[in-house]
Amino acid sequence: MNILCDLVARPSVNPMGRSVPHETPFFEGRVSDYLEAFFRSLGVPYERTTISPGRDNLIARFEPPDAKHTLLWDAHQDTVPVEGMVIEPFQPTVEGGRVYGRGSCDVKGGLAAMLAAFARLVKDQPKGAARVLLACTVDEEYTHTGSSALASQRLPVDLAIVAEPTMLEVVTAHKGAVRWKVLTEGVACHSSRPRDGVNAIYRMAHVLNAIQKYADRLQDSTPDPLLGPPTLSVGRIEGGQSVNVVPDFCAIDLDRRVIPGEDVDGVRQALREALQCELGDSVPFSFSEPWVRMPSLGPDRASSWVEPVREAIGTVLGQRPPISAVPYGTDAGPLSASGIPSLVLGPGDIAQAHTKDEWIAVDQLEKAVEVYYALACNLGS
Ligand SMILES: [Zn+2]
Repeated sequence: MNILCDLVARPSVNPMGRSVPHETPFFEGRVSDYLEAFFRSLGVPYERTTISPGRDNLIARFEPPDAKHTLLWDAHQDTVPVEGMVIEPFQPTVEGGRVYGRGSCDVKGGLAAMLAAFARLVKDQPKGAARVLLACTVDEEYTHTGSSALASQRLPVDLAIVAEPTMLEVVTAHKGAVRWKVLTEGVACHSSRPRDGVNAIYRMAHVLNAIQKYADRLQDSTPDPLLGPPTLSVGRIEGGQSVNVVPDFCAIDLDRRVIPGEDVDGVRQALREALQCELGDSVPFSFSEPWVRMPSLGPDRASSWVEPVREAIGTVLGQRPPISAVPYGTDAGPLSASGIPSLVLGPGDIAQAHTKDEWIAVDQLEKAVEVYYALACNLGS
């Protein structure tokens, strides 16, 4: 709990693509410095790798000499922004069995539990324990650059456990997401003579109609048995300079949620073809490159680990936790796509993540430390 309070008191807000000054409360540097000091005081080997300016992944290693299996523990350092919060976001408060503050639930609570379990492994050196790489990533909340870089390191890992608030249930599947823009162009002119120009917003209206039809069909397509159908949503629109100018530009933002078996490039191509088929040559449009391409997590790659993990958790919680699938994306998507069997498992309830009075139950935190420690002890060989 002390570790969690230390983490909450160090703002690490993800600017979510906005341009912001490199100062409080943005970016992960304060948390990274804390983690570096933490690992140094434990005397374990660690690496600090810059992913983009001011944003560093850290990986620390617990290496028992005769471990046969290697676990990757992953937790992200960043939080969502704090606008609209009704509590002090960076002054952790412990009250009524809860710790309040931005990130307490998503996912500084999970990170703190992993740090506490990791420190206990280093101190106790339990016999037969697994090797544990504790990875603290950046930019999970926006574009997953931290976990994508981690995945590309091709670490020799048998199983990744990704901390997110699952109430310590074992999550084996989630959707992925692709986000990009569709653009239409036109020819600007004075709005008193609209026939002299080409209206990019009218063009976009046709594109939007076609997208809506496509999104409806997608909802009715074959669903994933755990996650339901893929979805497509238009979340933003911009275009035009002024009411008295025929607009030469319009753009919309798409959020396409993918299910296991779909790939990021394939779904973009499928939409492009559907739009071309519907609109013909009369409505030219273009796609931007995606700024989010987060793979889904399918249940197959880690399937042989699910029962050993549940059994290890059962030894400390008294019963095996349920298996579940969730609608939100996590670092497990990129890790799994790179070939690492991955599960999502952490303390707290996703219902409290990103909220105006974010909190986590102390009881969940304490259980999580026991759970992570037991996983290392039981999955070593
Ligand atoms: Zn999270």
